[in-house]
Amino acid sequence: MGDMRRTITGKAIVRACALAAAVLLAPSMVSGNGTVPGIRVEIFGDASTLHIEGKGIQIIDTYRNLALFRNPGYSYLILSAGNNGLVVDRKLYPARMVTLLFSGGVVKINDRLLRGHLEIANIDNSHLVVIDVVNLESYVAGLVNAEMPHNWPLEALEAQAVVARTYALWQKERHLNQYYDMAADFMDQVYSGAGSEDSRGWKAVNATRGQIITYQGKPILAMYHSECGGETENSEDAIGYRYPYLRSVKCNFCKGAPGLNWKYALSLQQLARRLIVKGYTLSHVYGFRVMKRSRTQRVTVARVVTDHGNIDLDGATLRSVVGYDKLRSTLFHVRAKNGTLFFKGRGFGHGVGMCQWGAYGMARKGYTYRQIIHFYYTGVRIEKLY
Ligand SMILES: [Zn+2]
Repeated sequence: MGDMRRTITGKAIVRACALAAAVLLAPSMVSGNGTVPGIRVEIFGDASTLHIEGKGIQIIDTYRNLALFRNPGYSYLILSAGNNGLVVDRKLYPARMVTLLFSGGVVKINDRLLRGHLEIANIDNSHLVVIDVVNLESYVAGLVNAEMPHNWPLEALEAQAVVARTYALWQKERHLNQYYDMAADFMDQVYSGAGSEDSRGWKAVNATRGQIITYQGKPILAMYHSECGGETENSEDAIGYRYPYLRSVKCNFCKGAPGLNWKYALSLQQLARRLIVKGYTLSHVYGFRVMKRSRTQRVTVARVVTDHGNIDLDGATLRSVVGYDKLRSTLFHVRAKNGTLFFKGRGFGHGVGMCQWGAYGMARKGYTYRQIIHFYYTGVRIEKLY
């Protein structure tokens, strides 16, 4: 078994392990039977050392269902990847994947507070992957405050809770063959664990417990973004696929939001460097031109003229090259002067689905979370799953 495993890649091992573990350990994740579904979140994809602190810690060899460590009291452990095993407090255990259980509600790992239980796997004997298996309500509670300031109106937080719950379920249905449902970074949703939970976040989660947004009976892809800048985007223009519920709507509710209007200057030289970092072949950039805009005037194709020919980038790729926090949206105009591009734009994010600052504006004006959701998602229903 060991030899065969060594021939496959680390990631494949984790997937295989995690699937086995999911079958062995995870509670029923079937929706609609009253049970809160579990969500698997990748917390660390590439950790060298884990500092683990908590009460009632048990470390179990996931394959053999064998306890390697157990302390009902408070423990402080250091865990790292070893040769075909895991090193717990300098002792090597021949387990490539372990399940970490704890009592007391949360465990602290490298300054993150986490709920549920954890799966920790050795990848290529060099680093560790940590998956948090947490119930959906706790996951949403950890998310709401990471995605929205805790002092925002409750109706906005409630809308965010329903949206985050729905998004997580949609992801889960599509990741059935993968070892996690969600990555903990902003490409999915920003989950930092229980550390970001607070009482208002939990209030919003509990007030909407089990509620999700559906279209024709299925959880929707509940995309959202920081601020649309006046009009949200049709999904096909941002992600290349038309969802009937992700339609452009005029949004006046984010008017006056901080950072709504932005400017950014980028030299052609800097653009060349960023393209090279992303793996494009070129030495110099000579020009930049907007080739195509969507109906809402967002840039959908931009052409970069280089010494190795033209590179056409779609809006999302352009933002990833320049930097998502630099080119805050694709709703911009650009002017070139003396080898520098001057961008002037509006909004923050891809513009699809719920505009978070718009949700804030609506809540301040007295709209309910249901009205907020129905405003940004066309033709949907809000249903209670459990
Ligand atoms: Zn807006």
